Amino acid sequence: MNSPNRSTHIRLTSHPEPNTATARRPVAWAAGDPKARGPIVGSVTNPADRNVIGAHGGSYALYRALAISARALNPLTRPDLHNTHPTATIGPHPQWSEPGKIVSLDPWGHMVGEIYAEEIASGIDIRPTIAITKARLNMPEILGAMSAKRLKADGVVLHETGDISVTKVAIDPVWYLPGVAARFGTSEGELRRTLFEQTGGMFPELVTRPDMNVFLPPIGNITVYIMGDVTGLGDPKRRIACRVHDECNGSDVFGSDICTCRPYLVHGIEESVREAQNGGVGVIAYNRKEGRALGEVTKFLVYNARKRQEGGDSAATYFERTECVAGVQDARFQQLMPDVLHWLGIRRIDRLMSMSNMKYDAIVGSGIEVVERVPIPPGLVPPDAQVEIEAKKAAGYYTSEGPSDASDLDQVKGRDLERF
Ligand SMILES: [Zn+2]
Repeated sequence: MNSPNRSTHIRLTSHPEPNTATARRPVAWAAGDPKARGPIVGSVTNPADRNVIGAHGGSYALYRALAISARALNPLTRPDLHNTHPTATIGPHPQWSEPGKIVSLDPWGHMVGEIYAEEIASGIDIRPTIAITKARLNMPEILGAMSAKRLKADGVVLHETGDISVTKVAIDPVWYLPGVAARFGTSEGELRRTLFEQTGGMFPELVTRPDMNVFLPPIGNITVYIMGDVTGLGDPKRRIACRVHDECNGSDVFGSDICTCRPYLVHGIEESVREAQNGGVGVIAYNRKEGRALGEVTKFLVYNARKRQEGGDSAATYFERTECVAGVQDARFQQLMPDVLHWLGIRRIDRLMSMSNMKYDAIVGSGIEVVERVPIPPGLVPPDAQVEIEAKKAAGYYTSEGPSDASDLDQVKGRDLERF
């Protein structure tokens, strides 16, 4: 390879060429037949075949560019999909073709190797946007739940070693722009322009190519962990326990004690194991939306602002401090979140492990029944996270005992920076 690039001249993608891919292979989103819907072609190996905006892999497209820059990756490389097919069958479910039900992922994304085998054989670079595999999880808290006799090994879902057998699914975002705009109560034109401007003009096609209505955004993916029989997800007779979790690297991975993220996540896993052992299914949907989708830098700035304010970190000013730094209290906007639940075929959640009204409202508003909401058990709230949990309860987050008294909020204080 003399040049890391595909060809010697630069091709602008901002204006359609004659006989363009969107004319040959338009995306008919939500068509019941995937052949009629058409493949999502976001590959950059052959620009003439592309019928969507953006590139595969979300933010990892940038690392691919670095690998090519380092001459470590041939830009024309195509994946060999042999033996990569799903380890479990998910769908097709009726929700996949209900108009407006799923707008932020490609429901056929895990089946492209099979559905579009002919097109792939003819040379079109069609890539899966969903992968399904199997694994075992092992977390010290689950071993703790076993020693405390809250969980018992059954050799199928939970093993003596504390291992949990799971099906795990990775889902890259695929946005159908008219549908995403509708979820946010804006026009497609406004949405396209805002996406274009807020990415510093990264994707000119957003404003110049109305013929392309699908966008592969450079954001993180969703991971789903399923405990129990995956085929039970669409069966109304089977109970479903579910936690929809938004990423918090500090707590989820490193056990940082300023929030309740990891304890609530593990509680969701424990409840999921129990449901699966009783013949139901447990689902953890993990969204890469670090720091309320504001990012970790903003999150850490907020921590400092909270702890340095007069009087120290306090539940009374918890949301205010976030807004001071970020301009908004929360940017997760759960409008797109239920898509993954519809993709799984879920119509009812028997136990939802979440106190968030935003999540609850989004799920119920999308047509999924929620039977019971399960708050985090008080014993699982870490010491420095009392500020967060009391602020959330006072702001109306769901609790079984009702909202706490706002006048007590001043009393709830976090650790100061000198005593970290
Ligand atoms: Zn957290």
